[in-house]
Formats: sequence, structure tokens, C-alpha cells
Amino acid sequence: MFDALVLGAGPAGIALAAALSAHGLRVAVVAPDAPVDGPPVWRPTYCAWQDELDAVGHGAHTDQRWPGAVARFGPDAAGVPRVHDLDRAYARVDKAALAGALYARCGGVTWVAGAVGSVAHSITGSTVTLHDGSTLEAALVIDAAGHRPALLKLPATPAPALQTAVGRVLPLARSPWPADRAGLMDFDPLPGDDDGPATFLYVLPLADGRVFVEETCLAARPGMPAAVLTARLDRRLAARGVPGMSDEPEEWVSIPMGGEVPHDPRVLGFGAAAGMIHPATGYLLPRVLAAAPVVAEQVALALGARGGTPARAVAAGWEALWPRDRRQRRALYRFGLEALLAMDPVTTRAFFHHFFTLPPPLWSGYLSDGLTAAELRVVMLTLFGRVPFGLKWSLARAGFGAEGVALARSMVGG
Ligand SMILES: Cc1cc2nc3c(=O)[nH]c(=O)nc-3n(C[C@H](O)[C@H](O)[C@H](O)COP(=O)(O)OP(=O)(O)OC[C@H]3O[C@@H](n4cnc5c(N)ncnc54)[C@H](O)[C@@H]3O)c2cc1C
Repeated sequence: MFDALVLGAGPAGIALAAALSAHGLRVAVVAPDAPVDGPPVWRPTYCAWQDELDAVGHGAHTDQRWPGAVARFGPDAAGVPRVHDLDRAYARVDKAALAGALYARCGGVTWVAGAVGSVAHSITGSTVTLHDGSTLEAALVIDAAGHRPALLKLPATPAPALQTAVGRVLPLARSPWPADRAGLMDFDPLPGDDDGPATFLYVLPLADGRVFVEETCLAARPGMPAAVLTARLDRRLAARGVPGMSDEPEEWVSIPMGGEVPHDPRVLGFGAAAGMIHPATGYLLPRVLAAAPVVAEQVALALGARGGTPARAVAAGWEALWPRDRRQRRALYRFGLEALLAMDPVTTRAFFHHFFTLPPPLWSGYLSDGLTAAELRVVMLTLFGRVPFGLKWSLARAGFGAEGVALARSMVGG
């Protein structure tokens, strides 16, 4: 019988397994791609703001850094381009280095290759059954199986919005993009793309001379299909005079945004499975790296406490993940997300342009994970005070929807 059984070997599962074993717990990780022969290999391209990686002690685990980032929102009413040169370093995560560092802290962890299908609970622990019929027992089960959790049930309504994107690595002899800037958002309008949600080009000029380009729909409900994004990517590259052919397979991104946080009194969640994706950006890595030691400590304390039970450890874990202030923050972010979903492309571009005119600590705080709910309210109210009347109306309309009610509840402390 293990103390903790982690389902999933993505960044969340490995980070939590490392943190739990640091407390001397007997930990097992079960996943179809469990790293039985060495550090895990993760497929997506992960990026983050450099300061957020520094803050969680993984600032060195990057393989490329851009000293700043650029955001473009097309011309204003007078035809002046709305371009923001953001003085904040952005980085691509060195997945092998990060995975290797976390894996090295998993010395005593047992790795099991397989997929979990079901669970049964008793007073002393839980027994999971794998798809091959075998079973594993642990005091505590943690579902870190990503956007489609293995055991946790995601509330069906409201349906989450989806961030979708199609990415390619282009071998360009001459690139129109500056090598020292991450292209965070190029929302410059394209003829014909104002039909449906606005999308933007995300550009990472790579050190080897190639360029990673990704046409991204930040959030839509239902999500924007790959075919639409691919067509837009081709048109956008053509408009920049860039050949869009790539030898490598396209990257397809689909990330649920917002939605309710799952809850289960006997199974703890972690990572994407636990609703930890940032509802405004779709990012997760800095959050799981910061949260893993905190959750592990609470779980270890609860398991070791006199009268400690698995159910108490699960409750302590959920509380560490979603304390009251964080639940309030989530309601605020969901309000922002609903407002965004209601905007047409012209309004979206204007909104983000005003967003990046905020003082850097405000816009960067909103995009990161570091603000309290009170600070987040200040950012949102400051932005509301700055935007023109038409945009104020779009934002206010969101207040009358379901998310507005959630916001009101969060304001009064629910
Ligand atoms: C293409 C893409 C790009 C992204 N880019 C970024 C980025 O740049 N920055 C950022 O911060 N975030 C990014 N994200 C968001 C987020 O960081 C990732 O989705 C991240 O991989 C989620 O980590 P996770 O460990 O929670 O889940 P996952 O990485 O999805 O890992 C899930 C694990 O669970 C296992 N599993 C699945 N089913 C079962 C089962 N039944 N039993 C046991 N194990 C199971 C899987 O095999 C896997 O090991 C991106 C997401 C995608 C899809």
C-alpha cells in the first residue's frame, strides 16, 4: 500500500510526486507514459514569463529567452498602429532539463505503466483498477491526468471555453520578426478574419534561425476548429510575405479555459485535472511548480496527524489548492473570460490595446498568478476606468450573465 498514488506523468504529476516524496511518503505514479526508463518526455512546447520561472526556482530550465515581447492590435481609428513593446522577458522551457530536475527528486517513486479506469474507497484508503485489470492501493489518490481526468468528474455546465491553436516551425532564410522579441500577440486584422472570434499570431524566433508560429484563438465557446485556424495562419503568413511550409508536424493546442473546478471528497486533483489552468491565459506550468510543495506539505501533515485519515488529507489538499482568496480570483478571471467571449474582433483588439496601456505591474500581475483577489479587482477596475464608453458597455454586459452573479458572490465573500 502506497501513501500517495499519482495518476499522470505530465508536469503536474511529476512535480507533485517529487514534492510528496520529499516528505518521506511512499509514492507511486501510474500513467500510460510513466517514465519507467528515465525522465519523462513531454510533447507540447511550454513557455512562460521568465520572472515566473525564477520565482519557482526553475529560471535556469529554459533553452531560449527573449528580453521582451511584442503585442500588436492593428491601427486605431486615426490609422496609427497600436503596438506595445513589453519590457518583460519571456522564455521557452527546456522540457528535458525541467523534467530531468523534477525526476531526479523522485528517487524513491515507483513507476507503473498503465491507465487507471476506476476507484473504490474504504476508510483506510483507495484501490484503483487499471484498464488491464490490475489494482493498486494507496491511502491517497491524486488525479493529475490532464484535461480529461481519469477519475474526477468535471461539471458539465457551464461548458468551458476552449483555447485552440495551430502551430508550425518554419525554416526561414529571412524572418520579418525581430530575433530578440517574443511575438506574444499579433492581432493585426486580416481581410475576412472578422467573421467569428478574433485570432492572433504567436511568434517565437528560435535560436537556430527557425521561427515557431502559432495562430491562436485565446478563447471561444465552442472552440475554433483547426481548419479555420490553419486557413488563417496561411493567410497571415502570406500577408507577411513568409512561406508557410514546414517539414515538421503541426502542433495542435486545445485547452479548456474557465469552467467549474472539480471536487471530490476522496480523490484529490492536481494540474489541468484540478482546474489549475489560468483562465485568462491557458498557462499552467508556473502554477503547478509553485503549488506542488504547498499541497504536498498539507497532505503530508494531514496524513501524519493524530487521527489523520485519507479523507482529511484529500480535504487538506483541495483547501491548499483552492483557498477562499483563490476561489475569488477564479470568479474574477471567469468574469473577464465571459466578457472576452462576448466581444467582437474590433472590440477584442481595442480591449487588449487598453489592457497593455496599464502600468506593467498591473498587466503582468493579471497575466500571472501572483495577485490577491483584492489586487485583481484593482486591476480590473483600473482597466474599466480607462476604456472608452463602448468597451465599458461590453464589460458591464458580462456582469449580467451567470459569471457576473459568480463575481457578485465572490465580492461579498462567497
Ligand atoms: C499544445 C499545448 C501547449 C501548451 N503550452 C503551454 C505553455 O506554453 N505554458 C503553460 O504554462 N501551459 C501550456 N499548456 C497548458 C498546460 O501546461 C499543459 O496542458 C500541461 O501539459 C498540463 O499538465 P498536466 O500534467 O496537468 O497534464 P498533462 O501534461 O496532459 O499530463 C497528463 C498525464 O496523465 C496521463 N493520463 C491520462 N489518462 C490517464 C489515466 N486514465 N490514468 C493514468 N494516467 C493518465 C497522461 O498519459 C499524462 O502522463 C499547453 C497545453 C497544450 C495542449
